[in-house]
Amino acid sequence: MEIRQTVEIRVRGTVQGVGFRPTVWRLACDEGLVGEVLNDGFGVLIRTTGDSVAISQFLTRLQSEAPPLSQIENIETQDLTLLDFEDFRIAESVGGENRTRVTPDAAICAACRAEVLDPKERRYRYPFANCTHCGPRFSIVKEVPYDRVNTTMAEFPMCASCNSEYVQPADRRFHAQPIACPTCGPSIWLEEMETSATTSQLSPDAALASAVEMLKSGAVVAIRGLGGFHLACDATNPEAVQRLRRRKHRYGKPFALMARDLDVIRRYSNLTPAEADLLQSPEAPIVLLPADGLEKLPTGIAPGLNTVGFMLPYTPLHLLITRAIDRPLVMTSGNISDEPQVTSLDTARTSLRGIADAMLMHNREIANRIDDSVVKIMTGRPSLIRRARGYAPSAVPLPPGFEAAPDLLAFGGELKATFCVVKDGAAIVSQHQGDLEDISTFEDYQKNLQLYSRIYDHRPHLLVADMHPEYLSTKLARQRAAAEDIPLLEVQHHHAHIASCMVENGLALNAEPVLGIAIDGLGYGDDGTIWGGEFLLADYCGYRRLAAFKPVAMVGGVKAILEPWRNTYAHLVAGIGWNQFVERFSGLELYRYLTKKPLPTIDRMLATGLNVPLASSCGRLFDAVAAALGLCADQAIFEGQGAMELEALAESWRPSKTDPPYRFTISEQPVSGLLHLDPLPMWESLLEDLVRQIPIAQMAACFHFGLARAIRDMVARIRATNAVDASLNTIALSGGCFQNKLLLEELVRLLEADGLSCLRHAKVPTNDGGLSLGQAAIAAARHMERFESGPLADKRVTN
Ligand SMILES: [Zn+2]
Ligand SMILES: [Zn+2]
Repeated sequence: MEIRQTVEIRVRGTVQGVGFRPTVWRLACDEGLVGEVLNDGFGVLIRTTGDSVAISQFLTRLQSEAPPLSQIENIETQDLTLLDFEDFRIAESVGGENRTRVTPDAAICAACRAEVLDPKERRYRYPFANCTHCGPRFSIVKEVPYDRVNTTMAEFPMCASCNSEYVQPADRRFHAQPIACPTCGPSIWLEEMETSATTSQLSPDAALASAVEMLKSGAVVAIRGLGGFHLACDATNPEAVQRLRRRKHRYGKPFALMARDLDVIRRYSNLTPAEADLLQSPEAPIVLLPADGLEKLPTGIAPGLNTVGFMLPYTPLHLLITRAIDRPLVMTSGNISDEPQVTSLDTARTSLRGIADAMLMHNREIANRIDDSVVKIMTGRPSLIRRARGYAPSAVPLPPGFEAAPDLLAFGGELKATFCVVKDGAAIVSQHQGDLEDISTFEDYQKNLQLYSRIYDHRPHLLVADMHPEYLSTKLARQRAAAEDIPLLEVQHHHAHIASCMVENGLALNAEPVLGIAIDGLGYGDDGTIWGGEFLLADYCGYRRLAAFKPVAMVGGVKAILEPWRNTYAHLVAGIGWNQFVERFSGLELYRYLTKKPLPTIDRMLATGLNVPLASSCGRLFDAVAAALGLCADQAIFEGQGAMELEALAESWRPSKTDPPYRFTISEQPVSGLLHLDPLPMWESLLEDLVRQIPIAQMAACFHFGLARAIRDMVARIRATNAVDASLNTIALSGGCFQNKLLLEELVRLLEADGLSCLRHAKVPTNDGGLSLGQAAIAAARHMERFESGPLADKRVTN
């Protein structure tokens, strides 16, 4: 029997500007319902009348057939008295429409892909086809609200055909702001550097064909993409790859690749279904894959590593280029060395001259630079290593208790910087900015701070930064706090790491403290020394440092990061002692190598304490071990290079029962009671293995498994002391060293075997890119609990 009813349906989440209303309209018409749908300040509101079975069918389909870029947080329904509507319509938005949200850029959808490849379509081979379900968003926004006039598409008035699609609810381009076609939209051309000629006489298709021919013949072509320029070349051509490295002054860091489809990628990596899904997702990130396929890439792609970063074409332009080449292309960011990716035509013409042989240009301006995101599957989860295109600026949900968080701005760290805007109880983490010590990156960071403040109409009541007095982000926060008279909170680096991990795992504001393990290169400790291997009892408001890696001198300060052998020497001196080392191990190549270094100078520095800050850093321990095994001993081109090569080496070793993990010991400091993780026994075994000429891959594996076990043992020791509640069984893992898949997975396995629950990162990076989110949570928590005293109140960092 048919029962007619009227219901009101409230949908919350990312449901505006993603084609939600037309989907509602289509499904309602399908199900024979009448009523209306509209946007308002809370999301989407639907009122509909019809048969109760049809309505429940409609609700089911609304979830299963929601538009790809939407994210439904919840749906509430409520019965109304029977209302009569004539038909189903899309009604005017009601005041307070939340128009200040900007969705991330999305990869070309299946429908647009099919259209671009169909000769019968008017957008056949059009490099800028997009629709409500795909295409540029954040990268073209200049102002809010997100309407065409406020984007870089403003200078392309819609043609009549596009307009008729734009106003038609049944069309998948209904209200698609960047809608374009060959008649009215942007176009491409090729500029050859040698001749300085704009080959503008070429049709777009001929320009594209010409660029493809150049790539095939080994040339380097700069390609203006979605969020910036790429530098491309044939990834299977070793000379082309070396030429690009040389011209770009990029020597150590791996190159990202783009390939036509999964079939091409499968030649180089045995993809898992999860990796394939990730590659094909609307976010279309670079996915770090094991390089275990039948075919091998030139060593110049990812020197010293056994992984390779692949992505699929995510714009129609990329699609058209890669379809013409049956090989992967290098697609590395278009910049020199560590500068930000170039976005503008003029900058490309000047700064990429000398790198690229030609430039494939287009005239849709890039309003916001946004790098490709990088994801790696660890412990079975996609984990963001660099969070940018496709992910930013979508909001990271804040856990229960943070609803009343004050509007605040967190400035993040110094390397792999991001910042975080908290507004109306939501946290918006910026896209990856890069290393602020690069002057143009720092300028870009400041420009983006202003942009976000405009887009989100954000006036923070509270600022938060790292405690490190030399971080440029901290200095900037101090200036702003003084200039605008806004309170500033400075928080400890590793506490921010742990808080970041707690937030993304949804731990409520008033959750019990966790045991946080933060291991990374370095962060400023609250005792003025450098930290980087920390065991903190932490909640959002505060922390207590229970244990740390044994501090060792960083000889020459930051020089120790660039010259890893300095760490090996410092570790040997601090542990086994130089005289003992000479007595027992002077037969080693390591001994001969070190004696060629200016050791007397370094001994003087160690004796006088000049420029030898103590650091309890896990990253420096990795450097020391890597250099001892001959990896990047003289020079690391980027921080963590030695650690990455050490991991790759360990991964290549198939461990057996005969190679026991290296041991560490735990010692207790007399006055403070602080526990130290001491690597001395590890060094003894490692040096003896060097004497025995054990394969270094085996030694790298013994180090990784030994370190995981040592961290587990430290957790057990801490839980056995009176320092923590016996019921403490949640461990939060954070810090850049947990980008090491081998270490992370082994540690999680051990801790879970002990019955502990491990929180780790996935949505925001475990490296310093996640700091701003943790800073924001700490500041919000301390602001809200200012007058309360929690279990860690006595240890709270004071403002
Ligand atoms: Zn589309
Ligand atoms: Zn058009």
